[in-house]
Amino acid sequence: MSATAVDIAADVRAGRRSALDVVEVALAAIAARDGELNAFNTVTADQARAAAAGIDARVVAGEDVGPLAGVPVALKDNLCTRGVPTTCSSKILAGWKPPYDATVVGRLLAAGAIMVGKTNLDEFAMGSSTENSAFGPTRNPHDPTKVPGGSSGGSAAAVAAGFVPLSLGSDTGGSIRQPAALCGVVGLKPTYGRVSRYGLVAFASSLDQIGPFAATVADAAACYDAIAGWDAFDSTSIPEPLEPTSAALGRGVQGLRVGVVSEMTSDAMGIAPDVLARVREAADALAAAGATVTEVSIPACVYGLSAYYLIAPAEASSNLARFDGVRFGLRVDAPTTAEMQRATRTAGFGPEVKRRIMLGTYALSAGYYDAYYGKAQRVRRLILEDFERAYGEVDVLLSPTSPTTAFPLGAKTTDPLTMYLNDVCTIPSNLAGHPALSVPFGTGSDGLPVGVQLMGPALSEALLFQVGAVLEASRS
Ligand code: GLN
Repeated sequence: MSATAVDIAADVRAGRRSALDVVEVALAAIAARDGELNAFNTVTADQARAAAAGIDARVVAGEDVGPLAGVPVALKDNLCTRGVPTTCSSKILAGWKPPYDATVVGRLLAAGAIMVGKTNLDEFAMGSSTENSAFGPTRNPHDPTKVPGGSSGGSAAAVAAGFVPLSLGSDTGGSIRQPAALCGVVGLKPTYGRVSRYGLVAFASSLDQIGPFAATVADAAACYDAIAGWDAFDSTSIPEPLEPTSAALGRGVQGLRVGVVSEMTSDAMGIAPDVLARVREAADALAAAGATVTEVSIPACVYGLSAYYLIAPAEASSNLARFDGVRFGLRVDAPTTAEMQRATRTAGFGPEVKRRIMLGTYALSAGYYDAYYGKAQRVRRLILEDFERAYGEVDVLLSPTSPTTAFPLGAKTTDPLTMYLNDVCTIPSNLAGHPALSVPFGTGSDGLPVGVQLMGPALSEALLFQVGAVLEASRS
C-alpha cells in the first residue's frame, strides 16, 4: 500500500475515497504475496469489509469517523481480539478466541482504523527472527531468503511489503525496533506505562510495551497518538495527560543536544561496519540540521543483555504458568490433573519457550534468587542511573538499532546466544522503561535496510518523532 495512513484517513474522511476500496487494495496485496512471506496468521477479510462499509456509511451520514478512518491495520497475534483467534504463534493457544479486545485494539477501531488480520511472531514474543513460530517463519519482503527480525516480524513485514500502512507490535527487549530496522520501516517502543497493555498476552510484565510500525514517522506518530494514554484496566498505566505528538513533527533539531552512545558504537558490541557507518551519517545529518552532537557513555548498558536474559525469563516463567490446559486452548488428556498439565505443556510449547521457562524458574529458585534475579535487578538500576545522568547532558541518544542487517533464515536458530546478541542496543531502553524509536537510514553493504535508534527520557515520544522526522527527511 503506497499511500500513507495520514493520506488515506484524509481521503476517507473527506469522502474522496471509500474505506471499502482501501481495504480491498490491502486484501488483494495480502492475497498476492503473503503465501510467500507468511506475515499473517489470520486474515479477517469479511470482518474488515463489513467494518469498512460501516465507516463509509458514517461518512455519508456526515459523522466524524476518526483520525485513522479507513486505515487498514495489522495486529501482532499476541493482542487480544474479541472472537478472533489469538495464538501468540503457539500451539498451546489452539482454538482460543478472546472474549474481549485489548485496549489498543479498541482505541484503533474507535479512531476509524480497520483490522485486516493478526500477524506472525516468535512464540510468545520470544525471539529475534520470527523463526520460533508454530506456523513457520515470516520472510523479509526485501529479500525472502532473510529473516524479518523479531519477535514482531509479521507486523514489520506487513508494513514493509505494503500490505498495510500501520501495524502494532510489542517490545520487551527490542521486538518492535529490531524488526523495524531489518524491514526498513519506522518502529516505536513507547515509555513503559504510556500505552495500555490490557489485552496483551504477557511475556515479561515489567518490560512489555505495545507500539506502532509505519512506513513514515508521521504515520507512526498518528498511530501512537491514537493508542497512548491512561487506561483504568492497566495498573501500570501513566496518568499524565497526552499532547498529540504529530504537532511536534515539523520542529526540526536546531539547538538540540544529541549524544552518540559510545558503548553501542564500539567494537566490543559487535556492530557491523556498514551499520556503524550509517549511524555516523545519521549523526552528521542531525549536526547539519543544527543539532549539537557529542559522544556519551552509558557504562552499565554493556550488562543489559545479561540482566535482561535473567529478568525476562523469570517473569515469563511466572506469566506462562497460566497455560495449563484448563482455561485456554490446547488440552492433552491424561489420567490425573498433573499428568494432563505436563502433557499439555510438553506438546503445546516450542523449544525456545521451554528454554525460557526453565531458565526463569532456575533464576527464581531458592538459593539462586539473590545471585541471579536480585543481581540483575541491581544492574537494571545502574542502567537507569546511567541514562538519567546522560539525559542531564543531552536531549536524545543515538545508536544502531540492530548490530547487523537482516540475516539468512536458519543462520542463528541453532545457537540461542548468537540470536540473543541481536538485542544489545535495544534492551537498555526496556530495562530503563524509556521510549526509543527506530528510523530507517539507508542500507548496508548487502543492500538491505539499516535502522538507527533514537532514545530519550520517559515521555519524550514527541521529541523522538521530531528528531526522527529530520533523519527521515535527510534521506529523501
Ligand atoms: N529478542 C528478545 C527476546 O527474545 C526480545 C523479544 C521481545 O522484545 N519481545 O526476548
